[in-house]
Amino acid sequence: MPTYRTASEEATIRLGEELARTLPRRRAVLLIGNLGAGKTTMAKGIVHGLGAAESEEVSSPTFTLIHEYGNDGRVYHIDLYRLDEPREVATLGLDEIFDREAVVLIEWGERFPQLMPASRTEIRIRAIGNDEREIEVREIA
Ligand code: ADP
Ligand code: MG
Repeated sequence: MPTYRTASEEATIRLGEELARTLPRRRAVLLIGNLGAGKTTMAKGIVHGLGAAESEEVSSPTFTLIHEYGNDGRVYHIDLYRLDEPREVATLGLDEIFDREAVVLIEWGERFPQLMPASRTEIRIRAIGNDEREIEVREIA
């Protein structure tokens, strides 16, 4: 499984831009890591790498839950941090979003494994210092 290290926020954004090129047009991407690990930062790079928006335009969907970027909703960015129950998540209509020809980035999706597509990319981010991050990319099916 490919493992990367970055030493700055900017480097994580650049890595996200590179990883974006390897993603199929339709893919669920779980961004996994503690608060402050860099999940939203990685999303900025992926959204920009897919040409859907400038990275500066990407903000955390912690309160809004779902952000959409690009024409025809080519990238969705979802944050499930504030939801506790699978029933609450079910009201978001994620299945319908997963069916679209779109890259769907999800923070905290691993808390609701039964609601995530079996076939997905998992990007795990771990802080190993103030600015250092270890980033593992795993393709599942
Ligand atoms: P999360 O979405 O996982 O809670 P954010 O992406 O919102 O995390 O925040 C990550 C924080 O860590 C930012 O303040 C960012 O500047 C900082 N940071 C420091 N080094 C890095 C790095 N190498 N990669 C990503 N973020 C970093
Ligand atoms: Mg975040």
